Amino acid sequence: MITLEEAFEIIEKEVTELEPVSVPLLEAPGCLLREDIISPINVPQFANSAMDGFAVRISDLTGSGPWRLPIQKIIAAGDSSDDILKEGYAAKIMTGAPLPEGADSVIRIEDVSIDDDHVIIEKKPPEGDFVRPVADDIKKGELLFERGVSLDPVAIGILASIGRAEVKVIPRPRITILSTGSELVMPGQVLPRGKIYGSNDYVLRSLLKKDGCEVSQSFNISADEIADLCKIIEDCISNCDLLITSGGVSMGDFDLVPDAVEKIGGKILFHKTYVKPGKPVLLARIKGRWLLGLPGNPVSVVVGYHLHARRIMAKLSGLDYRPRKVKAVLGGDLSIKGTRFCVIGARLEENENGVIVFPSIHQQSGRLSSIKGINGFIFIEGGTRTVSKGTEVNAEWMD
Ligand code: AMP
Ligand code: MG
Repeated sequence: MITLEEAFEIIEKEVTELEPVSVPLLEAPGCLLREDIISPINVPQFANSAMDGFAVRISDLTGSGPWRLPIQKIIAAGDSSDDILKEGYAAKIMTGAPLPEGADSVIRIEDVSIDDDHVIIEKKPPEGDFVRPVADDIKKGELLFERGVSLDPVAIGILASIGRAEVKVIPRPRITILSTGSELVMPGQVLPRGKIYGSNDYVLRSLLKKDGCEVSQSFNISADEIADLCKIIEDCISNCDLLITSGGVSMGDFDLVPDAVEKIGGKILFHKTYVKPGKPVLLARIKGRWLLGLPGNPVSVVVGYHLHARRIMAKLSGLDYRPRKVKAVLGGDLSIKGTRFCVIGARLEENENGVIVFPSIHQQSGRLSSIKGINGFIFIEGGTRTVSKGTEVNAEWMD
């Protein structure tokens, strides 16, 4: 059996980033850029007004004001006429509208008065006032982003503003979830004797949604039957980069996921870590894709997703996985049982003195309600004892 750190090292070493592909811009937020972005255009391509107001020729405002200029025309944003501003005239102009040739300044609408079809200007503006020149934002040929940066929403907007509809990135991993267990019935159906409602699928899908991953609508469920398992794992894995299964990886007679993985030619990289909860977790490579086998107990699923699935997804995406770690002070006594390294669901609260952490009381891997309301975890060495309130412990936020 390996330690948690050893499991992380295997993920770090073995899981590599997906092949880069061109994706529509809106699929790229958060993705790692895999090309240099050089702007093919100036933004803006034409000088335009930064305000609603009047475009003037400064040379018309000689001597001392006020000046009374006839309004030659109204120019709206999107206007493509190429009229020249006549000497001695002003043009009413809207924000973003192209500056007419000859004009060199804009006076804001709130700084003038209108008299019939004339504008009265009290104060001469400096040259270039409220004019956005060509390439004011972005210059043609400018290196905007180097490959290797991760694209945030502003970056996506910048790409749109230079006209890009697609961008080459490491795509988001495609994730599929498979719940195994002959006892499982999905919510909304009647519950026969001996069966339980499956919750793992719902927890995992909710976690993935929160992490910004697309998950397909269809639910995959398999009975604890080797032929069924082999078939459904093969089907699932052919359409995803990471298959997260729950159940069927422990010691029971019907825990058949490891057998199924081997039967279909998969290679198990680890199976069992010295951690509580979630000891029997399994990582396998099947036909170039990944399978993370989490045990069926619902708390193990939540912990296993945070510990392993998030790391694997980050690696597949080419991104660093940086869980938010903190030193936190225990807000209540914590009772540890057994020798395995413990990951305990907890509620972290930030105050002016730091972070205080309230461990789940009586956490048990089979009782999902025992971790109700958690927003993080405590990481602590095994060894039966009580760790008293006020002790500093290592914790991690769940987000
Ligand atoms: P297993 O890892 O398959 O031995 O399952 C461990 C425990 O988790 C058993 O009590 C299962 O009934 C339960 N379990 C397995 N899958 C689910 C699920 N999808 N939702 C809730 N409980 C589950
Ligand atoms: Mg089972």
